[in-house]
Amino acid sequence: MLFMLLPLVAAAERLTPVDYVSTLVGTESKVSLSTGNTYPAIALPWGMNFWMPQTGRMGDGWAYVYSADKIRGFKQTHQPSPWINDYGQFSIFPETGDKPIWDENERASWFSHKAETAKPYYYKVYLADYDVTAEITPTERAAMMRFTYPDAEHAYVVVDAFDRGSYVRIMPGQRRIVGYTTRNSGGVTDDFRNWFVIEFDQPFTYSAVVSGERPAEGDRRTRATINEDANEAYAYHAGAIIGFPTRRGQQVTARVASSFISLEQAEQNLRELGSRSFEQVCAAGRDRWNDILGRIEVEDTNIDHLRTFYSCLYRSVLFPRSFFEVTSDGDIVHYSPYGEGGVKPGYLFTDSGFWDTFRCLFPLLNLLYPEMNEKMQAGLVNTWLESGFLPEWASPGHRGCMVGNNSASIVADAYLKGLRNYDIDALWEAVKHGANAVHPQVSSTGRLGWEDYNKLGYVPCDDIRESAARTLEYAYDDWCIYQLGLALGKKAKELKPYRDHALNYRNLFDPSHNLMRGRKKDGSWMEPFSPLQWGNAFTEGNAWHYTWSVFHDPQGLINLMGGNDAFNHMLDSVFSVPPIFDESYYGGVIHEIREMQIMNMGNYAHGNQPIQHMIYLYDWSSQPWKAQYWIREVMDRLYTAAPDGYCGDEDNGQTSAWYVFSAMGFYPVCPGSNQYAIGTPYFDKMTLRLPTGKRLTITAEGNSASRRYIDAMTFNGTAYEKNYFTHSDLLQGGTIVCHMADRPNTTRATAADAAPYSFSNEK
Ligand code: CA
Repeated sequence: MLFMLLPLVAAAERLTPVDYVSTLVGTESKVSLSTGNTYPAIALPWGMNFWMPQTGRMGDGWAYVYSADKIRGFKQTHQPSPWINDYGQFSIFPETGDKPIWDENERASWFSHKAETAKPYYYKVYLADYDVTAEITPTERAAMMRFTYPDAEHAYVVVDAFDRGSYVRIMPGQRRIVGYTTRNSGGVTDDFRNWFVIEFDQPFTYSAVVSGERPAEGDRRTRATINEDANEAYAYHAGAIIGFPTRRGQQVTARVASSFISLEQAEQNLRELGSRSFEQVCAAGRDRWNDILGRIEVEDTNIDHLRTFYSCLYRSVLFPRSFFEVTSDGDIVHYSPYGEGGVKPGYLFTDSGFWDTFRCLFPLLNLLYPEMNEKMQAGLVNTWLESGFLPEWASPGHRGCMVGNNSASIVADAYLKGLRNYDIDALWEAVKHGANAVHPQVSSTGRLGWEDYNKLGYVPCDDIRESAARTLEYAYDDWCIYQLGLALGKKAKELKPYRDHALNYRNLFDPSHNLMRGRKKDGSWMEPFSPLQWGNAFTEGNAWHYTWSVFHDPQGLINLMGGNDAFNHMLDSVFSVPPIFDESYYGGVIHEIREMQIMNMGNYAHGNQPIQHMIYLYDWSSQPWKAQYWIREVMDRLYTAAPDGYCGDEDNGQTSAWYVFSAMGFYPVCPGSNQYAIGTPYFDKMTLRLPTGKRLTITAEGNSASRRYIDAMTFNGTAYEKNYFTHSDLLQGGTIVCHMADRPNTTRATAADAAPYSFSNEK
């Protein structure tokens, strides 16, 4: 039987990075418990349009849930998160039967995950109630769908342009349906449209337009008109249905594209498909994914870990979404969601909450995909020019969500890591403005409480919620602005406020608890105080989670706590304090609390962002082996490649990028410092294909689940005793070799100068 083995081995060797990706990770989620709150995005990296099978009702943010039985459409989606919800969405759905079914509940078809193939560049599912197999393959702004029908006198395709004012027009002579949807969740101008064009390879023998739902009383957008002769409908909820007879196995292809600019631009975007076949588009998508995912090559025998890793890397390169389009002349333009709207020149990206993604998603782009982040930075310039602010949560315009002014980190880290191809002078003005203003309509853009913060050195808790979270993040953001200003050669006088305010975290440190705490205008502490209370002075976390938000000055925090021993004791305590909680501020158990409670990891709450860098802080306090221990616990216990694979909201690449960095063996605790705190490499061997054209290999010799500790390390052959790598050293490439052991080496990298960057050490 030996001859039988050879083809199997050869097949195994042909697995490429994208073959390990499951797009279903995190889809087994609900309002009360998130295991990712993701959906299977059928997309190219950073594509403008994603597609997804739609199991949820129109408008439901939980639009694909793994436990659902039925699919009701294939939706073009731009949703960053169920909490923010979707915009510009419409759906396409094949049917068979005596009559077409328009109602979204009645038309939904049973399906099985066993008859589903979900890859980033290809999706296939069997719609059992219609005996139709549906396939999708995307480009950045277009997609091809292929429906394989049974013998059917009446086969249909339903186009649902969704409610709140939509338009469809059937053009039988051109085998086309065009239209637009206006559906959105805010952050757009009144003229917002997503124009679509759908082109079939099959003539229509049936066509109908529909006005699906009675408009809400008094809605001024209501103007339901159906003109059967013109095959045209403008309605609160418009749709189109076309049909034709099919024979068994007949494939009907739909070529789809859309534009936020115009129908003409949608037709231009349709040219992304060219004259290519479904298979050719699919193969190109696969190549594109392998180029992006293949920037990190992994050699390891643990296929579960490979699947988790590449599924995480897939989620790290979807957002921020491209929101720009390319004209027939090759010009880059975008619909502006700001001010008066219209079409503006240049790049724009969207659908990222910087409160989440400043931490390690953008640093991952700066390390491996700086050419993309240069375009994103150019997009930030345009947001500043068009709206007067940098975004904090964009989808597609400014959205009110979360806290902080972390656009400063996004801008500073990119520039300080050498990205250049954009107008940094404009961004310098933008970060300064954002530090000293708040958006008049969207209070999470700019800095809420900036006057008090500048005057008192903290945001007082008297009348501004989540004041301590804001203060801690503003202080780090001020450090970012200061560092950026230094790099730009700005004068000391201009930089002094930011330099001084970078230490404002000190103003919230309560030595009686060794924790951060809300503070009133008169200088007294917020009362009563419970370290276990979520929210109130903090954001989706408690004092145990937020005390560590001193990214730029862990040594300063160590000093406040009274030295390494006290600091390490507090870090240890996060894991040993039982997972009890006080949810009174929220009036109920928010899902982030539940996700902490059920993990059996004490008060460590990896399911939300504030604490995600905490484990690495042992690198500053001479106990790096504890970081190595806990990193492996988190990777092994809180991440899998299953549909419930995350331990909380994935959040647009941030929680995934944590795993990607941690697998590499280092993490950017302080974006802007150009250092990465060292953790522990996860795989036997990794090779980074760096943007410099060089390669960096990281090997973990003798690695296993129990042999997680670094006993010794060399970097390009020389013993390495630091707890950090510098960005410039990594970009030079070379070889990092770690010798792994099953017990901690408590003397390696414990000298004071082994610790990564702290602002206090600089002064
Ligand atoms: Ca979160």
